[in-house]
Amino acid sequence: MWYIVSIIFGAILGSFLNVCIYRLPKEESIVWPGSHCPHCKNSIKFYDNIPLISYLLLRGKCRYCKGPISAQYPLVEGITALSSLVLFMRFGPSLAYITYFAFVAALMVITVIDLYHQIIPDVISLPGIGVGLLASLIIPQITFFNSLIGVLLGGGSLFLVATLYQWLFKREGMGGGDVKLLAMIGAFLGWKAVILTILLGSLIGSIIGISIMVLKGKDFKYAIPFGPFLSLGAVISLFYGEILIKWYLYLNR
Ligand SMILES: [Zn+2]
Repeated sequence: MWYIVSIIFGAILGSFLNVCIYRLPKEESIVWPGSHCPHCKNSIKFYDNIPLISYLLLRGKCRYCKGPISAQYPLVEGITALSSLVLFMRFGPSLAYITYFAFVAALMVITVIDLYHQIIPDVISLPGIGVGLLASLIIPQITFFNSLIGVLLGGGSLFLVATLYQWLFKREGMGGGDVKLLAMIGAFLGWKAVILTILLGSLIGSIIGISIMVLKGKDFKYAIPFGPFLSLGAVISLFYGEILIKWYLYLNR
């Protein structure tokens, strides 16, 4: 029963995340006015705004003008619903569930906005650092000290790499947004997870980046946003960090 509630809660929050993804880069209010079709500007009625279900019933088209509704909407709703369920199964009805769900939701918004616009909005990452630090005082999964070192290491290390990269190649490889994102990841997951996230994010990013270059014939100057890979690395660290670190230390005994 509670599993179903967590899925529904996740889908509803996913619907709100879609609003954030659409409006934050335009610096529009996320609460007012209500949703509109981007094609015909008709306002979307509440019964056409049910997460996942409305998209299926309307077969991905606007009720009025039959203009296409982006597949991003059901995708974000579906992934957020699934994240909510998986986190609830892991942490149960606790503050840790709420904390990590807020963290994953923030990563979700950052990932999609970074894919579309190549920016990571400060309005998510900076308050995220504060929320992560505060949560470390309450939840038993992380100490405040670990969280604080995570922020400093996350912000500091990537800042160092970014500065070095710019100095070596005379152009910006990583944005300041990535630095603040990694500081936020450090706040929620601690300093060990920061190292793991950089390793995983670089590894996955390189594999996908090289694949795109080979497939599309684009050269190395083609900028691929790093935020989505850092976010993915952070989610893997959240679920498998302990196991991966233990396994790594075991191999290097
Ligand atoms: Zn329309």
